[in-house]
Amino acid sequence: MRQWLLNGHPRGRGLVADDFKLVTRDIPAPGPGEMLLKTQYLGFDPAQKGWMENVADYVAPMAIGDVMRGSGVFEVVESNGGKHPVGTMLAGSLGWSEYAVSTGEGLNVAEPGLPATAMLSILGTTGVTAWCGLFKVGQPIAGDTVVVSGAAGATGSIVGQLAKIAGCRVIGIAGGADKCAWLTANAGYDHAIDYKAGPIKQQLKELTPDGIDVIYDNVGGKILNDMLSFIATGARVTICGGISRYETGTMPAGPENYFNLVFRRATMRGFIVLDWASEFPIIRKRMVKMINEGKLTYQEDIQHGFENAPDTLQRLFSGANRGKQLLKL
Ligand code: NAP
Repeated sequence: MRQWLLNGHPRGRGLVADDFKLVTRDIPAPGPGEMLLKTQYLGFDPAQKGWMENVADYVAPMAIGDVMRGSGVFEVVESNGGKHPVGTMLAGSLGWSEYAVSTGEGLNVAEPGLPATAMLSILGTTGVTAWCGLFKVGQPIAGDTVVVSGAAGATGSIVGQLAKIAGCRVIGIAGGADKCAWLTANAGYDHAIDYKAGPIKQQLKELTPDGIDVIYDNVGGKILNDMLSFIATGARVTICGGISRYETGTMPAGPENYFNLVFRRATMRGFIVLDWASEFPIIRKRMVKMINEGKLTYQEDIQHGFENAPDTLQRLFSGANRGKQLLKL
């Protein structure tokens, strides 16, 4: 079987091919109480680059030679008295490996009735991040104006739909005319702003005459600064991610407009979704209901071939992904 190992810490620069090393190993045999799992799909998240850099302290540091950390969907292909029968589809984080042995600890059984990939997208970390970031931190109320950056991405496109369900007016910021058209035609956004077409400040100003009540920020940097210019009194600024930082050598300068938080009596709060892990099962249940009722939709971008895992991760940083980035093995 093949595995991808960490071979470089990409600090202050983009990913390069040499940051990863492909190795071949024997397929492990499941011990008593264990199952042999065959990886069917891998899921990709910008945070994986942060883990490779070792900038975050909410996860264990990654060392050169570690199996690349990441989520996946796995099929039980052999069981040695293990928790689940052969054929069961499981999801969790076992890394970039074609096979793995597990007791099932920390893995979730795929939701019946939906494609197993949903466990990596709408029912995975992505979906619960959108839910928790919006409702627990952003706390929108009906009638609010919500602005989302990274809006056409996996998380952003779910945030927009949830904010619409909550009765808000929703504006998305994304890169490119096609992504912006998709936001308003398919993801329920009321308006979309293409940040790659030029400065966004004037459009934001025109679209938010009463100010922004909730910012859901996935990108940081200049876009966050521009959004902070127009916050309403009592605004909630939710810091979910900062992908614009990932390829730069230094941490971004603080937003020049942060003092608007004082003038507008606003709050800005970051979060790590894992802090609400005990609530994930109930949140998933609610989202399954919304999906089945046709109120919530999701988009997956499926690439192919285990050998393409590093290039697939890179798609998140070039903006090539359309919805949740996945790889089918
Ligand atoms: P995603 O949005 O599907 O993909 C990343 C998107 O970021 C790209 O498609 C691209 O879209 C945009 N992007 C890339 N470089 C950019 C830049 N320099 N400036 C502005 N936009 C840029 O990824 P995701 O998985 O849904 O993750 C979104 C964010 O949520 C990430 O920052 C992730 O780390 C964060 N997150 C946080 C938590 C938490 O607990 N706080 C949990 C999960 C995820 P465009 O084409 O529009 O530029």
